Amino acid sequence: MKPPNRMPATKHRLYRFWLSARHAFEQADPWLPWRVCTACEQPFRRHATAGHALCAWLCTSCTKHVAIAQRTVRCVQCALPLGPRPQAFGWTRCRHCKANPDPDLQALVCSDYSPPADDWIQTMKYRKGWGMVPMLADWLADQWRQDHRFAQNRDWTSCTLLPVPSSPGRLRQRGYNQAALLAKALGQRLNWRLNTDTLHKTEDTQSQAGLDKAGRLQNLQHVFRVVKPVQRLGTIALVDDVITTGATTAACVHALRRAGAQRILVMAICRTPE
Ligand SMILES: [Zn+2]
Ligand SMILES: [Zn+2]
Repeated sequence: MKPPNRMPATKHRLYRFWLSARHAFEQADPWLPWRVCTACEQPFRRHATAGHALCAWLCTSCTKHVAIAQRTVRCVQCALPLGPRPQAFGWTRCRHCKANPDPDLQALVCSDYSPPADDWIQTMKYRKGWGMVPMLADWLADQWRQDHRFAQNRDWTSCTLLPVPSSPGRLRQRGYNQAALLAKALGQRLNWRLNTDTLHKTEDTQSQAGLDKAGRLQNLQHVFRVVKPVQRLGTIALVDDVITTGATTAACVHALRRAGAQRILVMAICRTPE
């Protein structure tokens, strides 16, 4: 994390002190008998809830909510929940994807965009909650490891991470791209390469919030550009924080495919149900 430009000297020294104190605390952390829950901010004693990836971050009750949230059976291609009777869909694709099956396009998410994960995403996105990133990356990496589609399948075990880019205007406004932070942390956990200079967002679009599916698709056409060759990247893992209607990821996948990409795995923390 770089200090903002032209920070006054005293403030800068304080900032450096804060960084080193935080680093020292993080180093000591594995030996402390208690932690502060990342979700509810209550102190808790270390526990081992069936080895869940998040039990190092969350207290017992918050871990339970997460375990319930991620039990949904989802479409392998777009991650939409398959509803109460997934067997009606052959346990694999939703009705949209069944009409257009694509074995080279897979999707993986941790949970619906609902409590408690929606609040974590909001914190990471709008309240400068970088502290959420390591926890969410742990969760997504664990979800990938447990998914039988990818384990021991060489086509999917080594990917190049491409975060869904922010437009230059949004990046200036927010100061960071949460998808890029997530992708970087995922790369450290899964030992995958990160590539941030291939997929670009070319112009400022109207904010996606408040638009319906057709509006979003129209808004996004020709906005994503691939500016470097993608064939050498192998399998691409496209990372975003939330898949809302799927229009953003569809536009990225479309741009990558047009540039010659084949296998694409879309990874996100949350998926908004229909
Ligand atoms: Zn908690
Ligand atoms: Zn689907």
